[in-house]
Amino acid sequence: MILQVDNITKSFASHVVLNGISLHVDAGEIVGLMGANGAGKTTLLRIITGLLVPDSGRIMYEDHPIAISDFDHIGYLPEERGLYRHMSVIEQALYFTQLKGMPLCDAKTSLQQWFTRLGMEGWEHRQTGKLSKGMQQRLQFVITVAHNPKLLILDEPFSGFDANNASHFKDEIARLRDNGTAILFSTHNQQAASELCNRIVNL
Ligand code: ATP
Repeated sequence: MILQVDNITKSFASHVVLNGISLHVDAGEIVGLMGANGAGKTTLLRIITGLLVPDSGRIMYEDHPIAISDFDHIGYLPEERGLYRHMSVIEQALYFTQLKGMPLCDAKTSLQQWFTRLGMEGWEHRQTGKLSKGMQQRLQFVITVAHNPKLLILDEPFSGFDANNASHFKDEIARLRDNGTAILFSTHNQQAASELCNRIVNL
């Protein structure tokens, strides 16, 4: 077991958003989180990634309560994508990948491989803010996966992509799963969920 979510509850003032949610994700499987707008998907992903504190329940990573040091092994694609607009693609990607504890030399190799896989050759010295929205999404995805996380948490990974790019990303997510990554993602896209997921959790 890579991730276990045990009986999580969370309210904002008197509004109960999560009421006893449990799920687990093993290595090499994909779990989809579905639910209407406001169902609490982003809230749950923020709790798992330590950005919010639950009212009760616990998050286990492998065999222990999740700790800050575990986040070096987790890749998180947040709903609100955040890139430094004035940095070049390569400066930014190296910065975030090294923040996850990957040595510079390994980060360069990994990023080069990802840039090639995703058709981003020649982008290295472009300014991030001048990339199109879809190109920035691609860069953000690379930054999420380049440090080879064991667990990937993706909040609406396909939003903002055209059909062609969404299909390409589905293939990449499936390839990561086949290589043993545990993946949890939220989506409104029923088709993507049924194509990719071993299990779907409805909030
Ligand atoms: P969507 O599909 O629209 O992205 P979601 O399932 O991700 O929705 P959340 O963003 O988790 O839903 O929000 C769940 C509920 O919690 C909403 O009613 C939202 O207004 C509320 N909420 C989320 N964050 C906060 C906050 N920081 N303070 C108060 N209420 C919040």
